[in-house]
This record gives sequence, C-alpha cells and structure tokens, in this order.
Amino acid sequence: MLRSIRVSILLSFLIISVGLGVLAWRSYELSARLEDGVNTLAMQYAGYAADITARRIDSAVRNGIFDASEEWQQLERKTPNPDSEMLSQWLKSNEWITSAIYVPDSDPTHSIFVSEPPNRATAAAKLTREFYTSSGLVRYTYDPARLVEHVRPVLHQQPLMQRSQSDPQAQLAIVTTPSRHGEARLTDGFTYVAPLAPPLQGYSIRAFVRTAYGTSGWENARYFSIWVSVAALVLTALGAYLAMRGLKREAETMKLRGALIANVSHELRTPLSMIRLGAETLKRSSKLTEKQRAEIEDAVLREVLHLSHMVENVLDVARIQNRSTKALAFTPVRPRDLLTSLISTYESWIKSRGFEITVQIEEAVDEQLWDRDAVERAVVNLIDNAVKYSGDIKFIAIALRQVSDHVVIEVRDRGIGIASTDLSRIFDPYYRAQFSDTQTRRGAGLGLTLVQQIMVSHGGRVEVESTPGIGSTFRLLFPRESSRVAEPLPALNVLPEIGSRS
Ligand code: ADP
Repeated sequence: MLRSIRVSILLSFLIISVGLGVLAWRSYELSARLEDGVNTLAMQYAGYAADITARRIDSAVRNGIFDASEEWQQLERKTPNPDSEMLSQWLKSNEWITSAIYVPDSDPTHSIFVSEPPNRATAAAKLTREFYTSSGLVRYTYDPARLVEHVRPVLHQQPLMQRSQSDPQAQLAIVTTPSRHGEARLTDGFTYVAPLAPPLQGYSIRAFVRTAYGTSGWENARYFSIWVSVAALVLTALGAYLAMRGLKREAETMKLRGALIANVSHELRTPLSMIRLGAETLKRSSKLTEKQRAEIEDAVLREVLHLSHMVENVLDVARIQNRSTKALAFTPVRPRDLLTSLISTYESWIKSRGFEITVQIEEAVDEQLWDRDAVERAVVNLIDNAVKYSGDIKFIAIALRQVSDHVVIEVRDRGIGIASTDLSRIFDPYYRAQFSDTQTRRGAGLGLTLVQQIMVSHGGRVEVESTPGIGSTFRLLFPRESSRVAEPLPALNVLPEIGSRS
C-alpha cells in the first residue's frame, strides 16, 4: 500500500520533472533558433548597410569632384580670363583641394598657380586630377582625407530604416586600411567592411550591428530560460524529497502504532485471562484449602486492580487528548501534600516488587498552580519506569525541593540506564529502547511523551541523566511563578497508552 503510494508520488514528480525538462529543452531550442534568425538578420543588415553606404559615399565623391569642375567652368564663363584671385576663390570653396594650376590654351606661358596657405598644408599624400575647360586646362592636387571629411555627412543617413537618432540600427564609420573586407562576428554583434571605389580605395565603410544575444548572463534570454528551468527542477526535486520524507515519517508512525496495538492487546489479555482462570478455579474446585483460596482471591484482586488502573489510565489520557486545545484545570496545589499522598498510595506496591525506597521532601515548598491529576500522572509514570527498568539493584529515590526559580520533583533509580543514542528519542511517541528481555518490560512507549507534554503545559521541562548499567535520574522542573499563565496542552498525535504497568 505504502509502496504503491510512494511509487505513484515519485511517478508524478518524475512526470513533472520530465515535463519541465522537455519545456526547458524546447525553450532552449526555440531561443537558439530565434538567436540564429536574429544573427542572420543582423549579419545581412550589416552587409547591406556597409555596401549601400559605400556606394553612397562613392557617388558623393564623384559628385564632389564633378561639382568642383562645374563650379570652375561657371566662373570661367562669367570671367573669360581667369586670374589668380578667381583660382584661389575656387580653391577656398572646395576646401579639399590643396593647390591648382590653370593653363590657358591661348598662352600656356601665362599659367596661374595657386596653393593654399602653408599653415593649412598637410604632409598627407596628395592626389592629382585635371579637367579641360572651354579655354584651357585645370590641374589640381587634393587631400583624400579632406575629401573623406567632405562626404562624411552621408554617414548620418541610415541605409535602410531608422527607428530613432539615438538608436541607429547600424553604426557606420569610415575606416582606413581595414585588416580585411567582408563580415566578421564580434562578441556583441556583427561587422561588415565594404571598400570604397577609387580615388578613395584606401578607405572602407564599416557597419556594425549590435545583437541582444551577444553576451551571456541574465540579459541573455536563452541562459535565463535554462536557469529558470534548473530552478524549477531543483524545486521539484525538493518537493519530491519532502513528500518522501513525510511519507517515511507516516510509515514509521504507522509501524509504531501497529506495535502499540500489539502491546495494548497483550497487556489487556494477560490480566483478563488470569482473572478468568482464578474465577473458574474458585468456582469448580471444592477441595481447595482456605490458604489456596485466599491466594487465588488475592491474585484475582491484584489483576482487577491492575486492569482498572490501566483502564483509568487510558481514559485519563483520552481525556487529556480531547481537551488538548483547552488549558488544564490549574488549582492551588501543595507539592509536598501531593507527593506524600502519592507515595503512600504506591509505597506498598513498590515495596512488594522488592524495591528499597528513599524519600526526601523539603519542608518549605510554596503552593503552586498545578493540574493535580496531570502532575500525579507524570510522577507515577516516572516511578513506574524506575520499577520497570531496574535489574538486580532495586532502589528508588524520590525527592522534592525548591530552588531559586523552580520546584523540582526527582525520581532516581539504579536500573538498566539509557544509552546515549536513545536519550534524545525516549520522549518521542511510541519510542522504546531495545531490550533483550522485552517480555518482562512491556509498555507502549507513550509514558515519557505524556510526561513531557504535561510539563510543557505547565511551562516547565523534563531533564534526564542516565548511564547504562548505573541508573537514571528524571527531573520535573516546574517554574515557580504562581501567576504564570497556563499554556494550552499541545495536541498529542498518539493513541491512548494502555498498560505501562506490568
Ligand atoms: P514505555 O515505558 O511504555 O516503553 P516510556 O515513554 O515511559 O514508554 O519510556 C520510553 C523508553 O524510555 C522506554 O522504553 C525505555 O527504553 C526508556 N526509559 C524510560 N524510563 C527509563 C528508566 N527509568 N530507566 C531506563 N530506561 C528508561
């Protein structure tokens, strides 16, 4: 049954995990595909942007050169005999031209030469061009770098589309001597370098398109989806672990309850069969001597008392459990009186079991607000255990004292003791240490659980010191403040204890 529950829970977690895994894999695949698509687009866009811009720059260069010759020819048409002033005016309006010479067809010896002022002249490599006019020839030298500057405004036009000035889709630049033309992948995007046509063949246009997938980390949707999936898987595994742990605990509790029922039925059966046997013997055997008859009557009476005590115990425990959410009935109690009357009730029983008993009760112990029945039950449980878990040395010491902030009731024995590994668990419901002589030490493993619960409800605690083979000391520590507010009794997840007395 439990096994099948475990399998079905694990199976559902497995299905969830597989589902999450598939989801993670699909989202990874999709984002990878998306990224591929975006990359292809970005690469193509960089190529188009570089090529188109390069062609635009080429045509701007051609236009610049053409416009310069047009401008001269217009000047020449207005002033048929060009002089050096006209030539320098022309030079000034085309700032990329560094020097020019005009050679008239009619008289080449009257050529005019103009050069820009020496402070503007640069050492950069110059190129030469010439063109014929209606009356002569103009040859000029120009600085290609300045020609580049002249056409640079073309870069501001986004080649295909533009969303906004601050967010261009391609970043364009004019570069010199690029290491190579064509496309290149960078960590955060793509570049494409397209060469310019002569005369600016030493220059190229470089377009850069940034992609959102370039980096790793949170901003990368692909890695983000993977991390989210990993976190979901971890949480699922945690859920599975918690469910399994809960199930394991439940299984342990069920196992312990099984043991309890076995114990309870055994504890009930033994006195009942002894009573029946005694009663039958008394009824059938007429030849019994007076002494034998008295012995049987005593045995029957002992078992009846034992049985009624057990039943009372069960009913008491059930009563406590039923009113677990309410406070106990706290009334003023004299600890000294409580303990004295308890010991006088149980003394003969303890002694009949062959025990030596010493009692140390302090005179001055203040009156306390206790639930009398509950405290008695706790002490009886401790005495019962001391009797049950003693071997050859049969000794019990009971003490009551008052210290600065506690009233302490102590029950000490020289019995079998408790192994240190068991010490932390003896207060757990149904927990019993392993005994080689289990039959003689019957119990349900609930006594100390109840003792602890009773102490908690009184705002106190139980202390235990024990050495295997030497003996155990249990101490009930009650807080001394009589004005203490009673705490509700914590719910006990236990079945009523039956027959802790053997
Ligand atoms: P039960 O006595 O019915 O088994 P308890 O809750 O009273 O249940 O005790 C739990 C366990 O603690 C016992 O089974 C026993 O192993 C151990 N124990 C309790 N009191 C003593 C004691 N005085 N000496 C040795 N072991 C003890």
